[in-house]
Formats: sequence, structure tokens, C-alpha cells
Amino acid sequence: MKNEKKDIRALTKKQLQEFFVSQGDKSFRGSQVYEWLWNKSAHTFEEMTNISKETREMLKENFVINHIRVDQMQRSSDGTIKNAVKLHDSLTVESVLIPTPKRTTACVSSQVGCSLDCQFCATAKLKRMRNLNPDEIYDQVVAIDNESRLYFDKPLSNIVFMGMGEPLMNYNNVMKAVEKITSKEGLGMSPKRITISTSGVPKMIKKLADDEAKIKLAVSLHSAIDEVRTKIMPFNETFPLKDLKESLEYWYAKTKSRITYEYIVWKDINDNRVAAQALVDFCKAVPCKVNLIEYNPIDDGHFQQASAEATTMYQHMLERNGITVTVRRSRGKDIDAACGQLANKSA
Ligand code: SAH
Repeated sequence: MKNEKKDIRALTKKQLQEFFVSQGDKSFRGSQVYEWLWNKSAHTFEEMTNISKETREMLKENFVINHIRVDQMQRSSDGTIKNAVKLHDSLTVESVLIPTPKRTTACVSSQVGCSLDCQFCATAKLKRMRNLNPDEIYDQVVAIDNESRLYFDKPLSNIVFMGMGEPLMNYNNVMKAVEKITSKEGLGMSPKRITISTSGVPKMIKKLADDEAKIKLAVSLHSAIDEVRTKIMPFNETFPLKDLKESLEYWYAKTKSRITYEYIVWKDINDNRVAAQALVDFCKAVPCKVNLIEYNPIDDGHFQQASAEATTMYQHMLERNGITVTVRRSRGKDIDAACGQLANKSA
């Protein structure tokens, strides 16, 4: 029986060059194919027009290109686009294009489902099926870049890892994708335009600092009081705030890059002054800003957005303490494309 063909995009440039040399060809041929795969996002070997027909046939016999496929695209009344993305093994993830007058942002997934258990997040209910490969992450970005050019006449400007999954639990693949996105052969984007959002895995935050990735870091905090945070984000039991804070201090000492905290104010959970003061105190650890984000209901009614007064109270307390705060409105709610709503409902 023939062995299963290998995904050609799992090879590094060097491996691809070596493969061609082993076939009696030039290593330069490897660079050409690599460029087709990554710079030109070829879906098939036939597209590689500067490669001879025989070579293309040979590649086809040895490899496959496991490209993602945008299965369904939905457009929100506010312009947000959600892609349901089919993977080669038929699993689905979602990614979102968020247009604003100044920028277009891709919100991409890093895992199929999620291994964390945030009680307020729809993706958490899906359980983690598997990690995405670097190329599956990269492909989502390319698909959104194409949509951005097509519908908004401009290339993608920013990327946030705020789709499905916990990026720091799929660290190696996420970093390989970032490498591709920022490399000349890929999209050549600046790492400063990429934000990795994490629920807070201290060991991996330190690793990210050590690896000098130059990306921006966002932390989904939602509470700066351990008992409350453990209730809504049970993994906080394993990674308590003290460890998270220590890892953020480490991050800042190494990178000098300001952290963004994402924070939702919920009715009867954290809509009080004690909770707001705890956030203010937490914010004193390292330079940061706070995004107060709107809660997107996920059907079970357990969590409810706090009153506008509670959000204003947070805003004032943070501002009085010199902490930058932005109140973020949700985008794409009508198509379940907003934060925490990604659950393959359209698939
Ligand atoms: N696992 C990563 C990235 C995915 S979630 C992380 O936790 O940061 C992206 C953001 O959406 C996080 O800040 C998350 O807390 C927030 N979020 C999750 N569920 C939400 C909901 N129902 N409404 C609004 N934001 C939500």
C-alpha cells in the first residue's frame, strides 16, 4: 500500500531545497516552490507555472497541499465578515474580518475548540479537538487578506489571535505561523500589528518574552480577585493571579511592551467598587491599558452585561489612577462573529 502523501507545507524552505537536491534538481527549485506555497498561496501544483510539468507531476506524486477552504462566508450588517473554515480532516474553525475606517483586522483561530473552560465563552463548550497547524493559521490570514482587498480595497492591517482556542496552548504552531506572516516570503507584516490574546498561561508568557517575538500581548483578565476569577475561568485555580502577575512583570522587563487587559463587567459578578479597585491595583504591576469589552450573550443567560453605570464606574476609577481605558463595542453580533461567540453555529 502506498504511504499517505506528506503535506508539502510542513517542510521548511531548507528541507524543500534539500528535497530537490536529492531528486537531482537544483536547490533553487525548492525556493521557487516555497515562494508559490507561501508568497503566492498556491492551492495546487498546477498553478506553479514556472515549474516544469514533469516536476509538478513528481511533486503531486509525493505531496499534497492541505489547504483550508472557506466553506461559508457571512456578512454582518456592520461589515464584519465571518468565515467558516473547513480543514483537510473536515473539522471547522471560524475566523473574522473586522473593518473600521482606519484598519482591517483579522481575528483568527489557533485551535479547533478550546481546552480552557471560561464559563462565559461559546468556544469553551466545544472542547478542544486538536491544535491548528501553522499553515492552517496562516491560511486564515491569507483568506481574510484577500477578502479585505476584495471588499474594502485595502490589505489587512492587523491580526488578533482572539478566535477559537488558546494560542499559548498551541505555542509552537502559533509562533511558526507568526514567523510566516511576518517573513518576506509570507505576508511581510510587522509583528507589532499582531496581538496574541491569552487567558493567562504564566509559563508560556515567560517563554514568549524569552523568544523576543515582538508581538503585542493581551490578557483576558475579567477579574483581579482570585475567588471570582476561578469561578468564571476555572483554570485560574492552576494559574492564579499571583503567577500571572509575576509572568507579566517578566514580560515587561524583557520586552518593554505594554499589556492590554480585556475585561468584561457582568451584573452581580464584578460590577462593584471592590472588583474595580482590585483591577486598578493589578494594573499597577506593569504599564498597561484596559479594554472594557461588551459581553456577547451565549444563550444560557447565566451571564449578563452589567449596567452602563457600572462600566462608567470602572472607567472613572481607572482614569483617576492614570490607567488608559477604552470601552469597546462589539462587532458582528448578528452573525455570531463577536468575541466569545465562535462556536461553528453556521457550519
Ligand atoms: N483564549 C484567548 C483568545 C480567545 S477569546 C483568550 O482568552 O484571550 C478572545 C476574547 O473574547 C477574550 O478576551 C475572551 O475573554 C473574550 N470573550 C469570550 N467570551 C466572550 C463573550 N461571550 N463576550 C465577550 N467577550 C468574550
